[in-house]
Amino acid sequence: MLENPTPMIAQYLSVKAKHPQEILFFRLGDFYEMFFDDAVLASRELEIALTARDGGNKNKIPMCGVPYHAANNYIAKLIDKGYKVAICEQVEDPKMTKGLVKREVIKVVTPGSFFNENLEQGSNSYIVQVVRYELEAALAVVDVFTGEFKYQYLGRLENDSLLLDSLARLNPVELILETITPANDVMLEFLQSRFPKCLLTYYKPDVAEQLLEKHFEQRPAQIVAVKAIENLLAYVQYILKIDCKHINKLEEIVQEEYMRLDTATLRNLELLRNTNDYGSKNSLFWALNATRTSMGARKLRKSIEFPLLNINTIRTRQEAVGVLIKETLRRDTIAELLDNCCDIERLLSKVELNTINPRDLVNLKQTLIKLPSLKVELSNLTASGLLQKLGLELALQSELGVLLEQALVENPPLIIKDGGVFKSGYSQDLDELRELSQDSDTWLKNFEQQQRELTGIKNLKVGYSKIFGYYLEVSKGNVGAVPANFIRKQTLVNGERYIVAELKEFEDKILGSKEKVYQLELLLFENLRLQVAKNIKELQLLAQQLALLDLVLSFATVADRYNYICPQVVSGDQLKIVEGRHPVVERLLKKELFVPNNTDFAGARIQIITGPNMAGKSTYMRQVALLCIMAQVGSFIPASQATISPIEQVFTRVGASDDLATGQSTFMVEMQEVAGILARANKKSLIILDEVGRGTSTYDGISIAHAVVEYIAQKIKAKTLFATHYHELIELETCLTEVKNFSVAIRERGREIVFLRRIVRGGSDKSYGVHVAQLAGLPSSVLLRATALVDFYAKDNNICQPEKTPSVAKKSVDNHSTGDLFNDVLLQEVLELDLPSITPLEALNFLYKFQAELKKT
Ligand code: ATP
Repeated sequence: MLENPTPMIAQYLSVKAKHPQEILFFRLGDFYEMFFDDAVLASRELEIALTARDGGNKNKIPMCGVPYHAANNYIAKLIDKGYKVAICEQVEDPKMTKGLVKREVIKVVTPGSFFNENLEQGSNSYIVQVVRYELEAALAVVDVFTGEFKYQYLGRLENDSLLLDSLARLNPVELILETITPANDVMLEFLQSRFPKCLLTYYKPDVAEQLLEKHFEQRPAQIVAVKAIENLLAYVQYILKIDCKHINKLEEIVQEEYMRLDTATLRNLELLRNTNDYGSKNSLFWALNATRTSMGARKLRKSIEFPLLNINTIRTRQEAVGVLIKETLRRDTIAELLDNCCDIERLLSKVELNTINPRDLVNLKQTLIKLPSLKVELSNLTASGLLQKLGLELALQSELGVLLEQALVENPPLIIKDGGVFKSGYSQDLDELRELSQDSDTWLKNFEQQQRELTGIKNLKVGYSKIFGYYLEVSKGNVGAVPANFIRKQTLVNGERYIVAELKEFEDKILGSKEKVYQLELLLFENLRLQVAKNIKELQLLAQQLALLDLVLSFATVADRYNYICPQVVSGDQLKIVEGRHPVVERLLKKELFVPNNTDFAGARIQIITGPNMAGKSTYMRQVALLCIMAQVGSFIPASQATISPIEQVFTRVGASDDLATGQSTFMVEMQEVAGILARANKKSLIILDEVGRGTSTYDGISIAHAVVEYIAQKIKAKTLFATHYHELIELETCLTEVKNFSVAIRERGREIVFLRRIVRGGSDKSYGVHVAQLAGLPSSVLLRATALVDFYAKDNNICQPEKTPSVAKKSVDNHSTGDLFNDVLLQEVLELDLPSITPLEALNFLYKFQAELKKT
């Protein structure tokens, strides 16, 4: 502990004591300084110089600092590296204070409270609070920059799957838990593996403060949900120190209203990001995104995370998309109007957090002045209830628009201090003060001229420096001519600088007026900010209206551009797609044309799809799932016709993925995912299974796959697409009525095969794996050997056996002795000898090798 610290360091220490977890940015003049361990850590992480200063009693303490105006970049770096930063400001005007200025932490920056200018399109910075109480659980979620606040009552958690699915969708940047409990471990493991950058904080407010009532009109019925909301509000208010009035609407996430998508499905179907670099390129979001505004992009992302189940809502969106497709001209006009509309939601948070700048308000004005034209366009689109309603109810905000238009210049500076934010004519007082400071230029010119004449020094000039204020500069050669009333202030290499009483008087007057202009502009800007804040609810509504309009417009743009059709969404149990295409793969193909395929589950709930590697099985299965999801978000789909009944859950088990983070083997992960699907799927689910069982030995794999198909057919009855290389499963069609075989057609051309990419009725009994191995460049000797072995391993086993009896396939392998195996291989090699081309010596060598092998057996 530092003995006798200086008063400033004592002040620092008392603030730091309240913020042990954060790096404390301590404002000193134009710098944020860090001291002690914070300084050592920050200098290392930010690669800035570590210095030392006297902390009292001549004790040197470590110190480093960053300039105030560039602090954001440094804070961003620290946040990215997983630290939190507490910003301690001078909360008194130093000019008005004697002695030490009062300082306080005014905000704590965390991933959830850091205003990220470069946020990925469509994303939110969600802070999620999870609370467990008496065996029940709930979560609350906030984006402090859009004002969005939601909660989800998770009920009694039998297992964590619902919670994990919700977290996967929300993709939080920050997670708040009340306490460390074993029940939270699964969730933490999951988050750490999926979202390594999500920051975890334990926080429980000391007293319950009825914050819910202060912010929201409604109140959930479940205690656990109320707790989650209260805790999160307390965290935002007391820990992050954000008192946002813009958080005023509480939404409930009711899972039953939406299609449920689990973590694996979000990932496997590449709904929001691809599985290569986890960027959004080549995802469904990418394929459907022609939004013009950030609000629209966020709405699209959420729509994909929460596809709808309500047929009427889906149809209302479809109707709007259809109308916008037909009305090309109006569509273009609406698109132009939406272009460059500002992000009203994020802008409102800046209004509340008092970080709004003049350019933000000009952007808001530019958005508001477009609204009347938008209203006219929309009200003409009478064929769509949704668009007409939007037109009628558009929160115009005309008065605010006019006010901003009257007040602000077209291109104001970013910072008010730079001046020139307001138009002349907006404030008489401001105009007068401005005139005064403009007149000063003329006065200075006249004064300079007058002094030149009086002294006879032709190159005498008036200048200004921060330290001395206004001065007169005289070159070395003319110093002798300087009159007595000139007071010397500074010596330069080539001359001298002086002040005179008259110039000083002028300076006081002029600097005073500049300060007054600044103070008045500050005040006027604050008034404007308050005017915007007053309209916060209406502006939030406007943001939602624009987001919805942008969403349907985006669907229409994409549908028109890529030739999509409107799927018929009907109640019941239908899933029929004619000439469906994969929305992403069709856009990525360069030379080839995408081959459309039909899908119909009538009469076959389980489709077993066989066919060569690379034929297009996975593409086809994902396409079916994607088209259902697209239909349920209200989008049109790439097909020529489709009838779809809402799917309640899509499950996917695709590809091999080791869960290295949790130390699970590929096969273990595969089986866990299959177990999860079998436990949760029902008749209204769509299940995509790609090569289930391939992670273990062939016959274990076949047996598991077989049993899974039986279980789905007899117990779950979900619509299922099952791609497999186990041709033995084709037999299931003969013993399970729900199963039908399909395969991807190919044409054999000599030793080559041509992929036709067409899904046809009937199973295929060849994998052509060796062919793909050849395409991949395996050595020819390996390929030859593999070709020889294929026939040997291929078996025609009947697997339609009653459940109780052991599989025939297994038996046949057991009966196949090693002697047989060897003989088969040996015979194959003999058969392949090209006798005319080998030399007698080579023949002798072969014989010698075979004899040696035979002796061994
Ligand atoms: P594997 O069994 O090896 O996993 P697969 O049968 O699942 O292979 P896919 O991965 O679906 O094959 O498809 C391989 C490639 O074929 C795709 O990347 C795509 O380029 C092309 N493809 C798939 N379906 C089509 C189609 N309908 N039209 C045109 N090209 C297609």
